Formats: sequence, structure tokens, C-alpha cells
Amino acid sequence: GGAMAAAGPEGPRPAALTLLGPAPGAPCCPHGPALLFVKTSHGKEEGRRFYACSACRDRKDCNFFQWEDEKVSETRLAAREEYNRNHQPSFTHRQNVDRYKNFVLLPLSKRRFCQECQQLLLPAEWEKHSDHQFLCDITTAQLKSPSQLLYPLENKKTNAQYLFADRSCQFLLNLLIDLGFRRVLCVGTPRLHEMIQSKASREEEFSIRSLLLDIDFRYSQFYTEDEFCHYNMFNHHFFGGEAARETCRKFLYEENGERVIMVTDPPFGGLVEALACSFKKLMAMWKQTEKEVGDDNKEVPMFWIFPYFFESRILDFFPSFSMMDYQVDYDNHALYKHGKTGRRQSPVRIFTNLTPSMIALPEEEGYRFCTVCQRYVSSGNQHCEICNSCTSKDGRRWKHCVLCRKCVKPSWFHCNNCNCCTLQKHSCEKTEVGCFVCGKAGHKRSACPSLSHT
Ligand code: SAH
Ligand code: ZN
Ligand code: ZN
Ligand code: ZN
Ligand code: ZN
Repeated sequence: GGAMAAAGPEGPRPAALTLLGPAPGAPCCPHGPALLFVKTSHGKEEGRRFYACSACRDRKDCNFFQWEDEKVSETRLAAREEYNRNHQPSFTHRQNVDRYKNFVLLPLSKRRFCQECQQLLLPAEWEKHSDHQFLCDITTAQLKSPSQLLYPLENKKTNAQYLFADRSCQFLLNLLIDLGFRRVLCVGTPRLHEMIQSKASREEEFSIRSLLLDIDFRYSQFYTEDEFCHYNMFNHHFFGGEAARETCRKFLYEENGERVIMVTDPPFGGLVEALACSFKKLMAMWKQTEKEVGDDNKEVPMFWIFPYFFESRILDFFPSFSMMDYQVDYDNHALYKHGKTGRRQSPVRIFTNLTPSMIALPEEEGYRFCTVCQRYVSSGNQHCEICNSCTSKDGRRWKHCVLCRKCVKPSWFHCNNCNCCTLQKHSCEKTEVGCFVCGKAGHKRSACPSLSHT
């Protein structure tokens, strides 16, 4: 998960930036192939198409930019290649695995972790880091919970890392166990991966395996090449090349009927189409490994963890998905966690292509099973007799609007001008293009009613 970040250039009137997708032959930045964008206004392309970094929405993190029709000289291409090489991590994954092997052989008193470089230090390197802050006596337990040892990357735009609260992570893992999955492809879910790995090393009868795909290369210090791949989920780029791709493909191959599920919790930056495109490619990798051909509609089971107001966008790309009422909580997100004083409502949900009735939500947290809808819903979610479904998206009780012919948020009113329900405070100016966040017409992203969840 991550913060809501603007996709457009900053300014008083953000123009919509439309992603034209990963283009064949796209130029590369240090984060792999760039994505093709165009500025749009009133649904029409405006201006030249351009390539920009897929992973970083903040120009400060990666300033790659190239017009689609730009001629790039040989010298500049060579300089770019050199730049991309120089901007890769200083150690390879292999080197980090070897370093780890040496590190665990050290007595506790010699195990240091540099907080500034976010790196395990071998004694020969202490000197170089002598004026950096470091932690000493790194225990095996600490090595098994790297997400606690590493500080969460908090750059709001590029790599906001929001770690699952223990309760939510435990819930997810128990659910995966109950559903009988034996392999979990963790795409941007380091904490879930860590929980699986440490349980597997503690309990012999626990047989779930997991592979982490993440852009955060710091994790390569703690996991082997079979446990972690440096991966960019916005352009399906494996930094480790064909070998890493093969690791992932092998992992997805369901030997002896060991069922695999993909669990992802991407940054909420808004490039839903780029994410969907990558997830489809991961699904296709799984399909390739299927022995029996025939059922083309078979999808790898998946949990996509994302805010509820992206529901329509996700369903555009994955019509077989449905949204569960479970509220996913985070440790380091002020808004999305349980406070000591009453419950803060997290907007983050699980989207899945599994049958909703199979996803049992904890009754001790107030979730109940609706026999009509055949799914678990939150306690405040009342079954609407007119809609014939449990309509609340945010956990509060929604009200039915006869004019809109649907249930709406309790705080909304029907505006005769706009001919729909919305916040009482709104301007009735219509915009033709859909909102960047919820996709609905009638307002801009900055005024999206979905964002008024707190
Ligand atoms: N709740 C999860 C963490 C989600 S935060 C957990 O506790 O396990 C989002 C994760 O996606 C982070 O681990 C971050 O490093 C990763 N990420 C961010 N951008 C990415 C990208 N472009 N490709 C792959 N992973 C990315
Ligand atoms: Zn980049
Ligand atoms: Zn219902
Ligand atoms: Zn209703
Ligand atoms: Zn209005």
C-alpha cells in the first residue's frame, strides 16, 4: 500500500496523465523499461507522447524523460546505458547472499547493521562506516524479521512502504492456510513473506513456501535467489534477468498439486492499468506452466490489496474479482490503523477472484455472514432489500437513494443539479472526463468523494 499520490504534474489544475502502457522497444531507465504517457484533456490526447520512469513518480527519484518521437544520439544512448549501470545496487544479490552466510557465522558481538546504509556489516567494513549510526548484536530473530530491522521507505510518491499490522498479517496467513494454499507469490508484501518464512523455519510441519517480488533491494541481504527477486511491478521487470524470471516461473509451477496464490499490496499511486498489465503477465507465466491446455479462463488465485475506492478500476481489468469487506490495517500508517481510542476505519480491502463465500472474516471483529449475498460483511454493512445486496463499501451503514436507485454513503445528499448523490459541499460544475481516482464523471480527482473516508 501507499499514499495517494498525484500522477500528473503538480500545479493548480492538474491535467490528467494517461498511461498508454508498456510499449515494445521502450527506452530504459535504472528501473527497467519506461512507460508511455500522454497528457489528456476532456478525454482527448493533448501534446506529445512521452516516456517516463515506471516506478518513480517523483522526478527527484528518477528523472528519466524522453519524447516518443525524439531522436536520441548514439552518444546519449551510450551515456544512458552507463548511467543505468552505475545506478544499480553496489552489491549483486549473489554477493549479498554470500555476505549473509559470513555474517551469521560471526559471534553476536561482531554483528553490526549500519542504519545509514541499511546494510549488514562485516568486520572489515566497520572502518568505512565508523561515523554512521549502527545497531549491534544483531540476533537471528532480527535477521528473520528484516521488515523490522530496515526502516520503512516513506517517500510518499515513489516507495511508500506500509507494513501490515501483525493482526492483519496473521489473518491473511491463516486464511491462506485454511484455503489450502502451499505456495504464496508475495508481490510487494515483504511482511507476509517474512511471516511465512519464519514460521516455516520454526515449525517442521508447516509446509507453505513463499517467494518475494519487490523493488526494495535491501531485502536481498536476507533472502536467497529462491526466496527473493528484485522486481518492478509497474513494468514486470526482473532486475536479475532471465535467471530471476526462471525462478519465478519455477515457483509458479504447481508440482504435486501444490496450489499457488499471488498476494499483492502495491503502492496506491494510481497506475492501476500498469499494475493490472503486470499481474496479467504473472498470471500468464503461471498458465505457461499448466500442463493441460484447454481452460483458457483459468486464473491464478489472487489477493490484490487496495483501497475500496479503486473497486471499479480493478474490476475494469479483472471482471472476475470481488471486493471483501475485511479492513486491512497497517503499522506505520496513521490513518489506516486501529487507534487506542476507538477504531480508525481503514479504506484498504482485499480484492480476489476466489469465491467470496470461501473468505471467512473474523466474527470476533464484527464480521458476519450474509446468506443472501453469500459472503462475509462488516458489522455496519446492512443488507439493502431494494438493491438486494450488502451495499456498504466503507463499513458504515449506507442509505438507499430512490432517485439514484442505489445505496450511497450516509453523508451524501441527492443534488438535483448534478442528478446524483454527492457531498453536500460540492461545486456543480461537471467535468467530462472521469475522475482519476474512482473513474466516475462529475468531479476531478481533488474533489473525489471517495477520498472523504476519514
Ligand atoms: N503491506 C505490505 C507492504 C506494502 S507496501 C507488507 O506489510 O508486507 C508496498 C510494497 O511494494 C513495498 O514493499 C515496496 O517496496 C513495494 N514496491 C513499491 N514500488 C514497487 C515497484 N515498482 N515494484 C515492486 N515493488 C514495489
Ligand atoms: Zn526510473
Ligand atoms: Zn447481503
Ligand atoms: Zn440500496
Ligand atoms: Zn451538484
